[in-house]
Amino acid sequence: MTSDLPELLPARMLNEFVYCPRLFYLEWVDRRWADSHDTEQGQFTHRGVNKRSGSLPEPESGDSVKRVTALHIESRELGLVAVLDRVEDGGDGTTVPVDTKKGRPPASGQPWPADAVQLYAQAALLRDAGYSVDRGVLYYAEANERVTIAIGDAEVTAALEIAKQAREVAARDEAPLPLVGSRRCPRCSLLGLCLPDETNALLRRGTESPRRIVPRDPDCRPVYVTAPGATVGLKGGRIRVLHEDSEPIEVRLIDVSQLCVFGNVQVSTQALAELWARGIPVLWFSYNGWLRGWAQGEMSKYEPSWVGWRPGLGHLRFGGDGLTVAR
Ligand code: SF4
Repeated sequence: MTSDLPELLPARMLNEFVYCPRLFYLEWVDRRWADSHDTEQGQFTHRGVNKRSGSLPEPESGDSVKRVTALHIESRELGLVAVLDRVEDGGDGTTVPVDTKKGRPPASGQPWPADAVQLYAQAALLRDAGYSVDRGVLYYAEANERVTIAIGDAEVTAALEIAKQAREVAARDEAPLPLVGSRRCPRCSLLGLCLPDETNALLRRGTESPRRIVPRDPDCRPVYVTAPGATVGLKGGRIRVLHEDSEPIEVRLIDVSQLCVFGNVQVSTQALAELWARGIPVLWFSYNGWLRGWAQGEMSKYEPSWVGWRPGLGHLRFGGDGLTVAR
């Protein structure tokens, strides 16, 4: 796998590595990903800084930095790449990287170590490009708090050392073992893929019994259309089911995980296109519930979704490998 890895290590991955080396390996080497409430909220928090705007003046020009967001910067020498949320003018000839985080800083007022290392790496990249950097800012959105941290040679060296360690871990054939009894795991988005307590129990690491995993309650549900002669169309951001015997039924698309139609139910082309654009699969069943076929749009390889359970069929599961049936 390591020969497939990009040459440049994203600064964001240093954050993951400090949080948990196994998390880093699963994401960077195995390319596993799973969304969680936290990751979704993080993306929402970044909506104001994930669009490229402005550019940095030449380092020696003396011009001040205007508002710069989503700045791509990389260095083959350092082996690092980053997209900086924001870069500000320090007002004293320095340039200040500002990294946005969705949560809150620790009660100590100091940044979380993983966040700090990511910022150090960003500073290293700016310095490498010729800019003077002696501090950075972590903006914690939930608390609306800016934490300024000093960044000197020692911090930059520390970030580069951690990058070196991360590369050594990435070169291994297997992911590091899970953390044992760590409070980090319940908040980790890869908890359901990593299964730290279960893996440790099988390896007889740690003494406590596995903590219970509480599956998240999905925000959306399957929609079953079973009335013969019904038609499924689109109206705004909703699917609309029409049938001569009842009032129209509308369901918001954001509430739909999959559309299952039984018998001679018609689905409009517009509805199909919109469902697939949103990654919502459509399944066609016979009147009696036998699966006849299905169709789906582009889907992530690593985000399978359980379609549900059908009598006589078992669990239907979609993923990058198509449909599988688990009895
Ligand atoms: S669940 Fe725990 S051990 Fe597994 S990757 Fe996440 S933080 Fe690491």
